[in-house]
Amino acid sequence: MTIVINMRDGLDERKIKVAARLILGGKLVAFPTETVYGLGADALNEKAVRRIFEAKGRPADNPLIVHIAEFDDLKKLAREIPEEARLLAKKFWPGPLTIVLPKREEVPLVTTGGLDTVAVRMPAHPIALALIKASTPIAAPSANISGKPSPTLAEHVVDDFYGRIEAIIDGGPTWVGVESTVIDLSSERPTLLRPGGLPLEEIEKVIGPVEIHPAVKGKAVDLARAPGMKYRHYSPNAQVVVVEGPRERVREKIEELIAEYRSKGYRVGVMATEEFEADEFFHLGKTVEDVARNLFRALRELDRRGVDVIIAEGVEERGLGLAVMNRLRKASGYRIIRA
Ligand code: AMP
Ligand code: MG
Repeated sequence: MTIVINMRDGLDERKIKVAARLILGGKLVAFPTETVYGLGADALNEKAVRRIFEAKGRPADNPLIVHIAEFDDLKKLAREIPEEARLLAKKFWPGPLTIVLPKREEVPLVTTGGLDTVAVRMPAHPIALALIKASTPIAAPSANISGKPSPTLAEHVVDDFYGRIEAIIDGGPTWVGVESTVIDLSSERPTLLRPGGLPLEEIEKVIGPVEIHPAVKGKAVDLARAPGMKYRHYSPNAQVVVVEGPRERVREKIEELIAEYRSKGYRVGVMATEEFEADEFFHLGKTVEDVARNLFRALRELDRRGVDVIIAEGVEERGLGLAVMNRLRKASGYRIIRA
């Protein structure tokens, strides 16, 4: 049995209490954040966290992010808090930034995928913050079946988990649309592990140059050192191909590909920032922020419309574009076509 808790019209403290009680009772509650919907459980309750992995079909060595509602919560989770972490938290929390730090004993290894570090973030969504405040730090990966595109609407969570978790809080569409930026501050040099909703450029303005883990831009190379980066991700049922290159040439290439795939009898979907004539089309909007917000929704929606192939227009790898391209390339299984 899954209860769907409607908070589309805003925060409702009485309903938050109901959801908080479920979390404290070791149950699973999906909730909106500003990035994507999360599948939450009490981060310090081993049994509850294990159920997240079971429900998602997530490999046990793919660590979860622990969500907190105030800076002091971080002290209960992290053994050491370096100056960089304080600076970043002060500037960007609540917001789409996750910080990896050495973990305290109290944080179960189930939560951290067996690592001695813990990933922590303070989300900016009022519903998420209220739920955490009314309960406890919440471990939450994206609320999708492992390998599928992340959910940006409660309907996506219903599609994947109805009947398999205790509750889903419907807070309407999320507004960032891609997951948080993950930065590792547990070793000598700050390292970007996953690009996300907070542009790297913003982080570097505060703490200086950040190393980029090689898995961020291309294929996962050093798998052992890249927890959570080695799995198939964000994939709809349709085959995705990404077209990258100078704008003028990209348009031409996409048109060429539409014709080619259609001649082979495929139903072709296109997701792009300008109109295309295809079997199905999803307009991603104009700015890179629009593209980030609509990305996962477009993948799920084109799938629902039954296309065989999704042709996706690439964007420049600046600002949020780094996160967008990281998700698109993974969704395509690295089927990248250069225009
Ligand atoms: P998701 O919850 O699906 O958004 O994925 C969380 C991601 O955060 C993981 O796949 C890792 O890339 C990253 N992450 C979480 N915890 C850690 C950690 N302790 N060390 C390194 N990366 C982490
Ligand atoms: Mg995920």
